[in-house]
Amino acid sequence: MSLPSGFYSDLRPVEIERIRDQAPIAYVPWGALEWHSLHAPIGLDSVKAEGICKALAQETGGVVLPAIPMGVNTIKPFKGFPHSIDISADLASRVAEEFCLQLADEGFKVVILFTGHYPPEQINALQAGVDRAKAVCSSTHFEVWADLHFLGDEFRADHAGATETSFQMYFEPGSVDLEALPEAPLTLDDDGIMGDDPREASAGRGAEQLKLVVSRAVKRMNEILKETGLKS
Ligand SMILES: [Zn+2]
Repeated sequence: MSLPSGFYSDLRPVEIERIRDQAPIAYVPWGALEWHSLHAPIGLDSVKAEGICKALAQETGGVVLPAIPMGVNTIKPFKGFPHSIDISADLASRVAEEFCLQLADEGFKVVILFTGHYPPEQINALQAGVDRAKAVCSSTHFEVWADLHFLGDEFRADHAGATETSFQMYFEPGSVDLEALPEAPLTLDDDGIMGDDPREASAGRGAEQLKLVVSRAVKRMNEILKETGLKS
């Protein structure tokens, strides 16, 4: 029998308590508002992180919070692309710390910050928040994850490339417009794209990527649950 799960902001108190009593896990998807070239929405990283966390929670139980759109070192300061909202590392780490500590206070024993935006500056900012939370709270296990960590060699982690675009097509059908891309080869400087050509993306590929990420992340969660004594 699978453990209960739900989307935190949609749940009534009794529903949160029922989930927490059986699966005291909270997933905090971390996203961004960031240029993902002409074909994909600004909120891609949020959509991706939230979609993956929801699929994960269906396997492990637990709650999923709404994605926090706070990207550190977005492509705006990096390459000058517009429409991005760039957040300082310091602020993001403070927010990460507070979510960790307050979810611990709410009785969650494992808190995962799952970021869909993953330059080293972002991972480090979230890790700094987690480290400060760890220093004052030992009864909850905090960890930073990114889809990047679970994609392995099968799919290349990218920015607005075939992998991210496939996730977007899978999670929000109809939200990608590949026709909006120029005919020329796509580059980081001209298009703000890193990785394989997004024209190779498909919803089917997104489904495969999700299966892989979820299976590896569930494995890691089972290790955590054993390490913390939540599962024998
Ligand atoms: Zn992205």
